[in-house]
Amino acid sequence: MMAEGPFPLLEAVGGRQAGAAKDLLHGVEALCVVAPHPDDETLGCGLLLLAAAERGLPVTIVCMTDGSRSHPGSATWPAHRLAAERRLELTRAVRCLAPAAKVVWLGYPDTGLPTDGPALVAARGRLARHLPRRHGALILTTWPHDPHGDHASTARLVQVARGPDHPARLFHYPIWGRFLEHAPAPGFDRAFLVAGDTAARARKRRALACHRTQMSSLIGDDPEGFVMPEWMQEHFVEHPEIYLAA
Ligand SMILES: [Zn+2]
Repeated sequence: MMAEGPFPLLEAVGGRQAGAAKDLLHGVEALCVVAPHPDDETLGCGLLLLAAAERGLPVTIVCMTDGSRSHPGSATWPAHRLAAERRLELTRAVRCLAPAAKVVWLGYPDTGLPTDGPALVAARGRLARHLPRRHGALILTTWPHDPHGDHASTARLVQVARGPDHPARLFHYPIWGRFLEHAPAPGFDRAFLVAGDTAARARKRRALACHRTQMSSLIGDDPEGFVMPEWMQEHFVEHPEIYLAA
């Protein structure tokens, strides 16, 4: 399947010169990637995770949900089995990119992140404990305008958990927002792009392939289940990573 389009966000960043991961990591002493689901860490930040690991930086990956709802119609992969597999997949992908990284599982149900009330306050507190609170720390999370509830909720949760006086820098990485037909927010002409060399992109490709339940036809009994199209997988491997300062 070929990509459709045009995609305004990708067009907006198309004129930008891509930098190297080391440019965005300049002065960074700790990296924290907050991902709504297992696979977002690799899709959005694989090259940066790899570069941070190669520099020996402390890396934390916080996974917000269990990713158990990508194939709700599958009888052979009920939610508990899928959640366990996706946990393994993220573990393998991280081993490929940043083997020493600490992985934190907050374990919310897929599509079930709290959005208000006491549950939101509790989630904010749980997340805040894992955000590196120091100068020189860099936090990466999804883009608030990503058209997926968990992605938007994760971005908001990171913002409230970080609070107004947090010393760490925050950047957003768009996943589904890359393919919006109408870009809902300006600013991408100022995005920071990170390109990888051939070896780095090959490693990202290997890490992405670890997410077999999402990237392959492994689950064969749910025609409505999610599998990322080939062109989109290729896009995430070959296109520079996109980071927007919060
Ligand atoms: Zn996701």
